[in-house]
Amino acid sequence: MTYAARAMADPAPSASSPLVRRRMQNTPRRDTPAELALRRELHRRGLRYRVDIRPVRTLSRRADIVFSRARVAVFCDGCYWHGCPEHATWPKKNAEWWRAKLETTRARDADTSRRLGEAGWLVIRVWEHEPPENAADRVAEAVRERLRRVERALR
Ligand SMILES: [Zn+2]
Repeated sequence: MTYAARAMADPAPSASSPLVRRRMQNTPRRDTPAELALRRELHRRGLRYRVDIRPVRTLSRRADIVFSRARVAVFCDGCYWHGCPEHATWPKKNAEWWRAKLETTRARDADTSRRLGEAGWLVIRVWEHEPPENAADRVAEAVRERLRRVERALR
């Protein structure tokens, strides 16, 4: 059995340490504080978007923030759950379970980015630890550039 398959089959270990508890609280979900802060900054920059929808209807992956016209999909990745390189600390207990879980998450993230890219979308991933102003600048610039391209194509 692969690690991934085992992780799917095994129930989550109990919250045996503060680190494990913290990581469990960071499991993927919507409306995290980091995501709300980013949405606020984007709104302040005059951008309008949709939240927690499938960018491509036939692809069962949801993005956190979606700019349909510009075809930009933004994912806010939690540092612990998605294995951010700056905050990668590992619980010792149930290490194998956590590693399998993380590998599954990261493989799925990469697969989602690849599939959306193939469908003509620009994928932007934002780490939870990134200052929301910086992330919003990055996203806003990409969205405006893509919109300019759409408008040029329509002319
Ligand atoms: Zn981080």
